[in-house]
Amino acid sequence: MSNKQRKKSSPAAVRLDLPVEKNQTLELTIEDLSHEGNGVGRYEGYTLFVPGALPGEKVSVKATRLTKKYGYARLLDIVETSADRREPPCPIYKRCGGCTLQHFDYEAQLAFKRKLVEDNLRRIGKIENVIVHPTIGMEDPWRYRNKAQIPIGEEEGGLVGGFYAQRSHEIVNMEKCLIQHEKTDYVIEQVKRIAGKHGVRAYQEETHSGLLRHVVTKIGFATGELMVVLITKEDKIPNQEALIEELVESIPGVKSVVQNVNPKRTNVIFGDVTRVLWGEEYIYDTIGDVKFAISARSFYQVNPVQTERLYGKALEYAALTGEENVIDAYCGIGTISLFLAQKAKQVFGVEIVPDAIEDAKRNAVLNGMENVTFAVGEAERVIPRWYEEGNKADVIVVDPPRKGCDEALLQTILDMKPERVVYVSCNPSTLARDLRVLEDGGYETVEVQPVDMFPHTTHVECVVRLYLKKGKQKASA
Ligand code: SAH
Repeated sequence: MSNKQRKKSSPAAVRLDLPVEKNQTLELTIEDLSHEGNGVGRYEGYTLFVPGALPGEKVSVKATRLTKKYGYARLLDIVETSADRREPPCPIYKRCGGCTLQHFDYEAQLAFKRKLVEDNLRRIGKIENVIVHPTIGMEDPWRYRNKAQIPIGEEEGGLVGGFYAQRSHEIVNMEKCLIQHEKTDYVIEQVKRIAGKHGVRAYQEETHSGLLRHVVTKIGFATGELMVVLITKEDKIPNQEALIEELVESIPGVKSVVQNVNPKRTNVIFGDVTRVLWGEEYIYDTIGDVKFAISARSFYQVNPVQTERLYGKALEYAALTGEENVIDAYCGIGTISLFLAQKAKQVFGVEIVPDAIEDAKRNAVLNGMENVTFAVGEAERVIPRWYEEGNKADVIVVDPPRKGCDEALLQTILDMKPERVVYVSCNPSTLARDLRVLEDGGYETVEVQPVDMFPHTTHVECVVRLYLKKGKQKASA
């Protein structure tokens, strides 16, 4: 059912006994910001979420969508403006939807993220007495991303590309994106111009016709190396040779032009076949003293400046002396593992995606690190097996996806009793849930460091330091 149909049928279907009616205009004081970045106000006790409104503001709104427990309202007018309100510098801010907090002062964003973490720890984890440090922000919170994935469409006169207009599949052209590396705008512009000139058509979702679906760019911030990936529906690119030649000539510093073929009807970006059209298979980047090879398909952290800070904290919290055996669960391409290996006796990384482990092994060789071993598999199966075989870690680092750690993994940590656990999290609510399990099993959450990896969005990453409480080791051994 489409959004339109749902909207039409709802008023007749349900009569809710609420203090607010649909389409009613009312005045609200905004008290808070939700985890999605919407203003939160109450009207006779009923909660309304107002996109675009900020805490402390008095606003006039129109109720749009109401449910039993809460509703949404559209911002009509700001009656009293917050001192933290800023003019969003991006000209397409409202239409794009990629950023949600550009209208909010950056320092205030950082404070909001810290509070979000604190609230989750308290509410979900019942963790009260823990230090949550001020969020580590960026000195310059713009132009921080090293990877762009741009959908391509067509308008009269050529290829366009940028973003999907909110709640639609219509592609709107974008000339610049202020959170992408400076070079990105130029590169995307060149690809659109040159591909269009050589007769490349954009992929059309409705008819499953056309060729160019997405352009992906990757840039090594430390090295300046650049990769362009053309994601196409078919193998064959018209005038391929001339097109690539012109592309390479127009983009200074390009090291790699890659094609990925995705013939499926899907909104998943990449397909299965990847081939190098020109130049190298990999570009390189460094974070701290560690070098990484990045291919078209490799997962690599998108904000290298903040990644160094995040992993620096993980390393600090691991408190390595050179004697420790360390497990890095959910290791991806080994980014944290290699950081830790600089200071540990031995590091064991586990990751579910085989290609990522291939990259991790390559990166270990690239850095001449022989004290790291990588295994493919589910952390919750591989680590218990290691434990059964008699292998124990002194420190365990986990960096799970949004759904958090598997219960079986948490149980194995409690059985194995490493002295220190470092939890890197991209989701404060599952973090809070998992910390409760670790606390109940004998660990103490000592401190939490939020790091802003994605300025102007509501995402927040944390690093958490946990210690096995004194006495726990012997008492339950
Ligand atoms: N630590 C890495 C990646 C973290 S993202 C880095 O910083 O670069 C989380 C990773 O967990 C992803 O690479 C994902 O593929 C992996 N993953 C998801 N479920 C897993 C599981 N059950 N066991 C092991 N790895 C898993």
